This record gives sequence, structure tokens and C-alpha cells, in this order.
Amino acid sequence: MKRWIMEYICCPECRGSLRLDEVSGDENEVLEGTLTCTKCERTYPIAEGIADLLPDNQR
Ligand SMILES: [Zn+2]
Repeated sequence: MKRWIMEYICCPECRGSLRLDEVSGDENEVLEGTLTCTKCERTYPIAEGIADLLPDNQR
């Protein structure tokens, strides 16, 4: 997931802002980690550079 995307994404469930907990990545991209909604506390995984931002009912 490109780092600049963080400025544009929000929680698909409640539109809250997302906090990034990064496990691995480089200066441009986050490869592994978790996005956590600061409002509803849902978590969205980032694996192999892809952020999974699907709402609960589409998983
Ligand atoms: Zn949320």
C-alpha cells in the first residue's frame, strides 16, 4: 500500500480515520501491517502491500 494513500482512505464502515500499525515496509510503501479505525476499532490487514479495506459484509 502506497504511503500517500493514508491521506485519502478512511474506515469503510464508519468513515472514521485509520491508524497505521506497520510491521514492514520501505520509504514508499507499507508491505505488512494493520489499519485500525480510531472510531469503531475495526481492523483491516495489509498483506504483501495490499490493504484489505472491505467492509465486514463483503469478506
Ligand atoms: Zn470505523
